[in-house]
Amino acid sequence: MYDHDNIFAKILREEIPCNKVHEDEHSLFFHDINPQAKIHILGIPKFPCIDYYEFISVADEKTLIAFFNSVNYVIQKLDIKKSGFRIISNSGEHGGQEVPHFHVHILAGEKIGSLV
Ligand code: 5GP
Repeated sequence: MYDHDNIFAKILREEIPCNKVHEDEHSLFFHDINPQAKIHILGIPKFPCIDYYEFISVADEKTLIAFFNSVNYVIQKLDIKKSGFRIISNSGEHGGQEVPHFHVHILAGEKIGSLV
């Protein structure tokens, strides 16, 4: 069950501030408070859902396409397309998810260490 009091829900309601990179009708992108790379952006849909799996399962096509198009827009805006980036989405306990509102991490600005 989605927790409407999670940190990202509060950021969406502007109860907690964030350092915004981009916002549109369907999504919000902002700097991670504890960056793991020179560029570390979090992207969240405004649609309330816990993780990637739920987002894909429950959101309608328009919402899904709008969110991922916005990810591309931010990649362009940050000018990281050519140098490269890594997109990560953690889910659940084994995935190491801390905040239960679906989000992608966009890491860039330097060579990101190998995970696999
Ligand atoms: P997760 O582990 O859930 O995939 O990642 C959650 C991310 O949210 C972490 O990288 C953490 O640093 C970030 N975070 C947690 N609280 C806040 C906050 O209040 N503001 C911002 N900007 N980022 C946060």
